[in-house]
Amino acid sequence: MALLSTLTTNVTMHCPFCSAHDTKVIDSRLVAEGDQVRRRRECLACGERFTTFETAELVMPRLIKSDGSRQPFDEDKLRAGMQRALEKRPVSVERLEAAIGHIKHQLRATGEREVKSRVLGELVMAELQKLDEVAYIRFASVYRRFQDLNEFREEIERLSSRDPGKA
Ligand SMILES: [Zn+2]
Repeated sequence: MALLSTLTTNVTMHCPFCSAHDTKVIDSRLVAEGDQVRRRRECLACGERFTTFETAELVMPRLIKSDGSRQPFDEDKLRAGMQRALEKRPVSVERLEAAIGHIKHQLRATGEREVKSRVLGELVMAELQKLDEVAYIRFASVYRRFQDLNEFREEIERLSSRDPGKA
């Protein structure tokens, strides 16, 4: 999992005063509207008390572009790209926002600090496919830049040969 807290929960905290390994938690409470856990600890060796803060790491992974450059995840850019694909399509803002939330969740769930931008592209396409097939085709055609025309053609054929009762 991507959450730092799940990784550190059972790790023994060193005492910052004497570096002893034996410290115990004497108080835990949620702070910052529940986003942080504040723990009072006491060193069993020297008796000093200190405070630690535990925060779930919710940082989005950076994107590795095909040329190897890195860039930060940009939610506005993601939203703009999806809105462009969804233009004049019967999809509510709520459903778009839910899809964006789902994409962000999946990116975080990779637990990676960096992911290939292609991973994001595939996640977006999977979400658009669930929302609206026209938007999906629009996005996929731009995203793949028609590099694989056969694949694109096959996708159109696959969609048009679907049971019309489901459309
Ligand atoms: Zn100590």
